[in-house]
Amino acid sequence: MKVAVFSTKSYDRRFIQLENTVSQANHEFVFFDARLEAQTASLANGFPAICVFVNDDLGTEVLEILAAQGTKLIALRCTGFNNVNLKTAAKLGIKVVRVTDYSPYSVAEHAVGLILMLNRKLYRAYNRVRDDNFALDGLLGFDLRDRTIGVVGTGKIGQIFAQIMQGFGCNILGYDVYPNPNFEKLENAQYVSLEELWQRSDIISLHCPLFPETHHLINQETIAQMKSGVMLINTSRGKLVDTKAVIDGIKSEKIGYVGIDVYEEEDKLFFEDLSDTIIQDDTFQLLQSFPNVVITAHQGFFTENALDDIARTTITNLSDFEQGKPLQNQVNAA
Ligand code: NAD
Repeated sequence: MKVAVFSTKSYDRRFIQLENTVSQANHEFVFFDARLEAQTASLANGFPAICVFVNDDLGTEVLEILAAQGTKLIALRCTGFNNVNLKTAAKLGIKVVRVTDYSPYSVAEHAVGLILMLNRKLYRAYNRVRDDNFALDGLLGFDLRDRTIGVVGTGKIGQIFAQIMQGFGCNILGYDVYPNPNFEKLENAQYVSLEELWQRSDIISLHCPLFPETHHLINQETIAQMKSGVMLINTSRGKLVDTKAVIDGIKSEKIGYVGIDVYEEEDKLFFEDLSDTIIQDDTFQLLQSFPNVVITAHQGFFTENALDDIARTTITNLSDFEQGKPLQNQVNAA
């Protein structure tokens, strides 16, 4: 089947081509660097299937162009599907499939990495030593043992994250709209209300999807309920967090540390080398100017294991569609 693949980098091409060969699926991939949006949607003209990533735009306008050009399948090479207007896709007869499952360790371990960066100020220590500055002032950290970690969303990634933090000797508080029976089997882990989680946690890590009801879950009101000096970790989706409220929280010293792998307006920044350009996003620039903020550019998923899993499931999704088999990873409108 002919598949137009958007927002591709060399690593996407490598993993997808390899899996296409190994599985003998023989899809005809055409790779585009371009992000899918109204201006680039014509590249998919005549392709029955397209393959997209987290920051591609699959809103009504783009979906209507795709449908008119003959696209019948959208294969997301990610778990989140917040960038797709599922109701419009269904109305236009376009099916949507995703990668429900890929190494949850990739993102969970990255969240832990952000905690350790902040907790022991490793980013500052690294730069200091390279500058032959061996002083320790300003690098004082704290032990994770006995700290309370709030996990919002205890699905695949949240559960693994909780397990790892349990290994550090932390107390784990969880919140989920659909509790995971394995979560409370962990030692020192219990479900609490969201309010209690905000109030008791030393570190809060977000692992729930972005839905209308989770948009700006972290906002002025929820921050006000948190402990002074709280550490916020977001490896899930940028729009879960009201960035301006977080900036106010940092300035008032209510928030002590911020580690993010995702950002509200990341679609204009992430995955590109913009080091020679003037960044116009003042909020982002202000956020990264604080000494207690660490930002990575949506690399939580970026391990060999995860890219392998993503390529394998994507090819299976495409082959199932081509062969008229049931789509096990289909995403339906609510
Ligand atoms: P999952 O579906 O296994 O788990 C999500 C959990 O969130 C579920 O248990 C669900 O019940 C819960 N949830 C839903 N609505 C909620 C709400 N309102 N409040 C609290 N919990 C709620 O998904 P996962 O594989 O663990 O992934 C979690 C999120 O991580 C994804 O939605 C995605 O946004 C993000 N993610 C980020 C990266 C990255 O590279 N940084 C990579 C993959 C996934």
